[in-house]
Amino acid sequence: MNKILICLEAGNTNYYEDLINVSNKISEKNEIWAISFDEKIDIKNSNIDKLIKIKCSQADKYNNKVIAEYIKEIHCNENFDYVLFSATVLGRMIAPRVAMALDTGLCADVTEIEKNGEDIVMVRPAFEGKLFASIVCDKKPVMMSIRPLMFKNEKNINSKKITKIYEDSITPTDSVVIQDRYKKPKTKDIRSSDILISGGSGIKDQFAKLYTLADNLDGNVSASRWLVDRGYVKRDIQVGQSGKIVSPKLYIALGIHGTSQHVVGLKNVQHLISVNKNKNAPICFISDVVVEGDAVTFIDMLNQRIEKNM
Ligand SMILES: Cc1cc2nc3c(=O)[nH]c(=O)nc-3n(C[C@H](O)[C@H](O)[C@H](O)COP(=O)(O)OP(=O)(O)OC[C@H]3O[C@@H](n4cnc5c(N)ncnc54)[C@H](O)[C@@H]3O)c2cc1C
Repeated sequence: MNKILICLEAGNTNYYEDLINVSNKISEKNEIWAISFDEKIDIKNSNIDKLIKIKCSQADKYNNKVIAEYIKEIHCNENFDYVLFSATVLGRMIAPRVAMALDTGLCADVTEIEKNGEDIVMVRPAFEGKLFASIVCDKKPVMMSIRPLMFKNEKNINSKKITKIYEDSITPTDSVVIQDRYKKPKTKDIRSSDILISGGSGIKDQFAKLYTLADNLDGNVSASRWLVDRGYVKRDIQVGQSGKIVSPKLYIALGIHGTSQHVVGLKNVQHLISVNKNKNAPICFISDVVVEGDAVTFIDMLNQRIEKNM
């Protein structure tokens, strides 16, 4: 008789059938225990013999350290032959912790179970799926994570009801402590920005003002090479042939002439506004809106207008 523990994720009963089917493939004579960190879990017809429902805080339901510690404890009391997880994001975090704690191996991402005499062979893809590795673990408990939905259609589930339900709880660990809050940082890569406020030599001494405008419009700052070459800004925000090709919805070009090397970087821009003292600068001919005048005055007025309406 094999004693098998399957670990069910809180809020996710999609894959428990895989785990039961794998348990039945391992051995028909088995005792299947399930552990769930969701006390409201609702599994009616299954092959599970014993279900342990754990009452714990919302944070601990997804805390891989807490869950791993609990599984380790229950294994020490019950001495399972096999411990099974789903190879989901959470399962992939918990399983290695448990394996380390129990000093055993872990076969991750199992897609098939085979038998070789007495041995249970766990099959998993290797080398980007070009090969399949057959793995036998000679330590107990044998641990594996099962690739979701690989065993779902095996129809080994019968209508046996869960025999026994145990309840237990974990004392809140306060493991999640909010120490500080940060505003989500805006994307740093100008290639993935929707709004770019871009400056050229015409705005060199007032470049810092671009950051205020970018903040107000929830965008990022970029620049022409003129400013990069002279050390005003870093190269990673340079637009153009020797910089980056950008694709924002809105590009505001402030004091940028629009040489061919700069314009190459603008081919995917959806809307272009340029502000230039010289309305005959090349960039004005490819712009949707041209503002003839001083770029610094334009920024100040636009910032004031936005801040007034905030
Ligand atoms: C091989 C090679 C690769 C290059 N790659 C790039 C590249 O990837 N990206 C790039 O940007 N450049 C590149 N360059 C450089 C490019 O040729 C230009 O020299 C550069 O783009 C000019 O930058 P700019 O438009 O900011 O400055 P300028 O050419 O000096 O133009 C400034 C503009 O601002 C206007 N202006 C001035 N004062 C004001 C004001 N107060 N208000 C409003 N408007 C004002 C002027 O009328 C003018 O149109 C490359 C050059 C070479 C040779």
